[in-house]
Amino acid sequence: MTINAAVDTTVTVHQLPTGTYETPAALAFRGGSFRERRQFAATAVLVRHPRGDVLVDAGFGARAEEHIRSLPPYRRSPHTLGATVSEQLDAAGYDRARLAGVLLTHSHWDHVSGLDSLDVPVLVTAQELRYAEHSRGDAVFRQVVADREVRTYEFGGPAHLGFPAAHDLYGDGAIVVVPAPGHTSGSVVVLVTTGAGVRYAFVGDLAWQLEGVTRGAQRPLLMRLLADSDPGQVRRDLDRVRALGPGTRVVPAHDLRAYEGIPRLA
Ligand SMILES: [Zn+2]
Repeated sequence: MTINAAVDTTVTVHQLPTGTYETPAALAFRGGSFRERRQFAATAVLVRHPRGDVLVDAGFGARAEEHIRSLPPYRRSPHTLGATVSEQLDAAGYDRARLAGVLLTHSHWDHVSGLDSLDVPVLVTAQELRYAEHSRGDAVFRQVVADREVRTYEFGGPAHLGFPAAHDLYGDGAIVVVPAPGHTSGSVVVLVTTGAGVRYAFVGDLAWQLEGVTRGAQRPLLMRLLADSDPGQVRRDLDRVRALGPGTRVVPAHDLRAYEGIPRLA
């Protein structure tokens, strides 16, 4: 059995940038300079699908300042907050009834902060829930999902594009989640094929910047040790993503350049 990639022609993706935070390039990827500072994107992606739209991650929320203050000092950095996902949906006149849930690449604060103003189901792996329960120094997920419906899913589908298993959200190949349990123990990659025939791989924090994909540059050693649950698994999954080839647009969650060409929500 394989996953059918013939998809509904109405599937589209939109970016909802909610702000940025600053990180020296030297800490973002191997070979990066200490003189260069990168603006890390905190951008959510809306995937519109006739059976129900999903957000991939949630960006910064209305209480982002509070969330940042709750982090250990070494994890706070200069940041700029923009409109939240919730505000952008409203500004676009978006019908909330269409939103089926938020699909998380992983549970770190900068991907879930925006859940504070989105009252929709949160879709996450059981492994990631366990990770988040025991996460020290980042309690934002536990706060923002306290009164949300959290739905777990299994990778019941076959090997897909080099990954050992898959979860085909609507069974039509349009939105396929594959396991990538290296950055956190329940991290995933979300593969989306649009009606225009473009395939995106939303890889979360498998790499922080595009150099992870274009050059295979993992995080620097110190950051691998501090930030990754299993650096060896990150390496293997990064290689799988790189093997997807030029037909797939790989979007590391925090690389502003990766979102170029993805339309905003009109
Ligand atoms: Zn992140």
